[in-house]
Amino acid sequence: MFHYPEPLAKLIAELQKLPTIGTKTAQRIALHILRRPDEEAKELGKAIAEVNDLIVYCSVCGGIADRDPCRICDDPRRDHKIVCVVEGTDDVIAIERTGFFKGVYHVLMGALSPLDGINPEDLKIRELLERINSQDIDEIIMATNPNASGQATAIYLSRKIKPMNIKITQLAHGLPMGGDIDYVDEVTLGKALEGRREL
Ligand code: ZN
Repeated sequence: MFHYPEPLAKLIAELQKLPTIGTKTAQRIALHILRRPDEEAKELGKAIAEVNDLIVYCSVCGGIADRDPCRICDDPRRDHKIVCVVEGTDDVIAIERTGFFKGVYHVLMGALSPLDGINPEDLKIRELLERINSQDIDEIIMATNPNASGQATAIYLSRKIKPMNIKITQLAHGLPMGGDIDYVDEVTLGKALEGRREL
């Protein structure tokens, strides 16, 4: 039986831990890295080694960023009175890609799922309520995923926010149920934002 030299085997084992990377793909990537100039592999290693150190969480929206506050929260051209509530940073990226939204975000870092042990205190809900209390906000857009836990989160939040006399809207229908916002194409997501309805 063929055995990869130890350093290569180690790289393959590490690559295989990544999502969507199976054994075959891990082997292909590892051999590719080996064939490329030294410099390229070093740059890749450096980028991986630094990512945890250089990425910060924005103290305003909770999203990942290279500085605090992030570029969106710090942008005076954005409408800071409209806050779009999403589950994760990938949703921010998906909505930004539509080019339609000019407000700001609040990243919950997940969705309610009591069966999995994810309760309100595990999400950035307290931070959202504090933000609504302390800032001048006109509208909260619920953009949690169109699945059971996303929907449960939106309902829970709207119950909390309604008494604060803030307009709450939700993305229009037309998003595939059970799915993730970041899998939806830009046009559909843009339309869902544009056609948002009051909750
Ligand atoms: Zn931010």
